[in-house]
Amino acid sequence: MTMQFCEVCGKATEHKELIKQKPSKYGASRREQLKAFVDGFFSGVGGGGAAAIDLIDRYVVCQECGHKKLENHGEQFQ
Ligand SMILES: [Zn+2]
Repeated sequence: MTMQFCEVCGKATEHKELIKQKPSKYGASRREQLKAFVDGFFSGVGGGGAAAIDLIDRYVVCQECGHKKLENHGEQFQ
């Protein structure tokens, strides 16, 4: 849980991190998922992991109002 500013509440509130897999260009079947994983893995190795990270969306959810905010920029709180 992290304290972050929520623009809906207008103050700093507790936020919970939520990781969601992006709806990708690949289908939802098992075989397509595997293909997506393998593609991501190999391009991740080649491109320093950027492609693999690209497959997920990071959100933070305000614990007071439930507002979701996309947080895909960097790892500054790690
Ligand atoms: Zn809020």
